Amino acid sequence: MSDYREIQRCNRCGFCQSVCPTYGQSRMEAQSARGRIRLVRLLNDGQYDWRRDPGIAEKVDDCLLCRACVVNCPASVATDRIMLAARRDFLEIKGLSLFQRLVYRGALSHRERLERASTLMRLYEKSGARNILYSRVLRRTLDRLIYFDSFLPAGLEAPARGQLPEIVRPRGPARFKAVFFLGCASNVFGARTVRSLVNYLVSRGVELHLPKVACCGEPHRTTGDEREVRRLAAKNIPLIFKDNFDFIITDCSTCAHALAHYDQFIGEETPEAEKVRPLLARVKDVNTLVVEELGLEPDRLRPLPATKVTYHDSCHALRGLGVKSAPREIIKAVPGLTLVEMKAADSCCGGAGSYGFSHPEMSGRIAAAKVRNIQDSGADTLAVSCPACTLQLGAGLRRAGLELPVLHPVELLAAAAPTGAQT
Ligand code: SF4
Ligand code: SF4
Repeated sequence: MSDYREIQRCNRCGFCQSVCPTYGQSRMEAQSARGRIRLVRLLNDGQYDWRRDPGIAEKVDDCLLCRACVVNCPASVATDRIMLAARRDFLEIKGLSLFQRLVYRGALSHRERLERASTLMRLYEKSGARNILYSRVLRRTLDRLIYFDSFLPAGLEAPARGQLPEIVRPRGPARFKAVFFLGCASNVFGARTVRSLVNYLVSRGVELHLPKVACCGEPHRTTGDEREVRRLAAKNIPLIFKDNFDFIITDCSTCAHALAHYDQFIGEETPEAEKVRPLLARVKDVNTLVVEELGLEPDRLRPLPATKVTYHDSCHALRGLGVKSAPREIIKAVPGLTLVEMKAADSCCGGAGSYGFSHPEMSGRIAAAKVRNIQDSGADTLAVSCPACTLQLGAGLRRAGLELPVLHPVELLAAAAPTGAQT
């Protein structure tokens, strides 16, 4: 497989160690890019066997796929592709885990089930059961449960899908038409953000279409479940890659990165990939669309209360799509907001899709380190462009007892916009 050819290009220099979040936490060679590549090389050479040495799968699975090693590697070794290829092979042997069957195939692949789960989460949050969970006696024994509970944001709203029509038109003539790809996490956990972004974009003259899409497929891809990835891409492609849509946008960096690579998702050598490839450039991270296509018009913005905002770069936006300046430009354009950079803003938060749930210990440690950097920046607000990072960092902040608001940059912009864009 071509992804395995990448292994030969690793010269074992070790430059990747200093940027790898999992190595940073464990200081174990096997949890760095170099170490993981070596393990996969030994597997391919037949010196290890997935069945005999299950610890290897764990090390491959521990990788966040954040690509920090890739962009810092002198040889640009695509460690993430090697890890994905290895996961695909491992999946062939072991099949899907219970977690993958329940969460990825069982829930993420079916929007209605996910929305029903969101009703249960809201009931739990509103019922006060959370207070029992936090009582001192239970706390000692239920640490893990509390860890998972910390992901649930306060005041969780009903899914965004039910709050929005399928087409939202501006009052006057539309400047352009765009699909708003409503990803799973945005739909279930980010209704407030989605509403705010939709209001803002429509108030700036964008006609928005919100088709009933399925999961983008990225969670399934990270586990090597290629069949489900292709099925989901085949479902979404006719809904979003239409000639009359000028852009495909989303507030989720992970979805944006996935959709921009849908030729690979559907199968690189297939006729469907050929058809979709010329349209991929229309996929835009919403920050980029706002800066490049709409303009910020800072003179029209009303001042917000003086606030220091720090921005976390999500891996899929920064290293996947090259989005770095647009969200920062947005924050700097809003009167009253001051952008303060945190240390290692570009380092993975440890969320990595569902990594926070599947690897709670490592993920929790990475989040805690990130939260310390947020705190040290002196910021009053955290800006993030990805619902998975928002969940992860929101949970990390809650566990640290901090009450920083976590908002999308365009949400901040919408709050300062003249009309029709309330958060
Ligand atoms: S992955 Fe790149 S940076 Fe890391 S050891 Fe190999 S060549 Fe060096
Ligand atoms: S992708 Fe991220 S977690 Fe995986 S080896 Fe590279 S730096 Fe480490």
